[in-house]
Amino acid sequence: MTVAPDPSLAPYVGRFAPSPTGPLHLGSLVAALGSWLDARVAGGRWLLRIEDIDGPRCVPGVADQIQRQLAACGLEWDGPVVFQSQRDAIYAEAFGQLLAAGRAYPCGCTRASLAQEPRNAEGETRYPGRCRAGLPPGVTHPSWRLRVEEVSTCFEDRVRGTLCQNPAEDVGDFIIRRADGLFAYQLAVVVDDAAQGVTHVVRGADLLWNTPRQILLQRQLGLPTPQYAHLPLVTDAGGRKLSKQKQAPALSDNGQALLVARALAILGHPPPSALAAGPLHELLTWACAHWAISRVPAHAAIAIDAA
Ligand code: GLU
Repeated sequence: MTVAPDPSLAPYVGRFAPSPTGPLHLGSLVAALGSWLDARVAGGRWLLRIEDIDGPRCVPGVADQIQRQLAACGLEWDGPVVFQSQRDAIYAEAFGQLLAAGRAYPCGCTRASLAQEPRNAEGETRYPGRCRAGLPPGVTHPSWRLRVEEVSTCFEDRVRGTLCQNPAEDVGDFIIRRADGLFAYQLAVVVDDAAQGVTHVVRGADLLWNTPRQILLQRQLGLPTPQYAHLPLVTDAGGRKLSKQKQAPALSDNGQALLVARALAILGHPPPSALAAGPLHELLTWACAHWAISRVPAHAAIAIDAA
């Protein structure tokens, strides 16, 4: 690395945490590259965590493919890859802590039974608290929800500025353990970020409004809150998010420098055109020398013509 780390940011631990539901596409490369650059320029560590907790949604072979794609783009991670599917014990411990503190309650509401409830701006149902007073009779496999108090939760996003949400109003009591027994993303991500000592979360803006829920959980569990930065999502020309599940074109196996150059441009760091043709290591060295998170567009999404 040719850039001297900024000592005010050390020690820095960043991470990339893809769900292996499909290979990386340009949108996920933007998130990976932004978080890698931010960590590397700070002289920090960059961890890779495969978020395969939701087994039924994971596609066999994709976790390996993602690792190959990252390595091909020059995004090397530090230490062993962590798999959420192997970490049930630490999620169970955190869940037990919330139960013991009376923070969680069982719920028999199904998605279908909540279909008519109002939705928030993200399209999520605001849970009306039906099971707060007790589980209806006959429910044998409840989900578990966190009891969310009315409180405005604010955080300083390094890209988007100060953001506040009252999760009680916007999402209500949210699920931390699903009816099928799996721990929910919100719980697992908070436990893992803390267990791995993550200090800086840099990820896609699709997760922006999950952050207040995660901060609430961190407070309930007595865990530190990392610094957050949410990078613009990449959408197609029609404004649709590129999504792994919707089979957005996966990154091709060749032309990585060109792809990384496209991702850099989306991140507000268009490289000189001579560098976009490679070699890749020269492009990444240029990117490290020029990276400033203040140059990342503070937008929820950026549309591109073709993925
Ligand atoms: N696993 C999540 C995803 O692929 C990302 C989680 C996170 O970065 O907090 O969308």
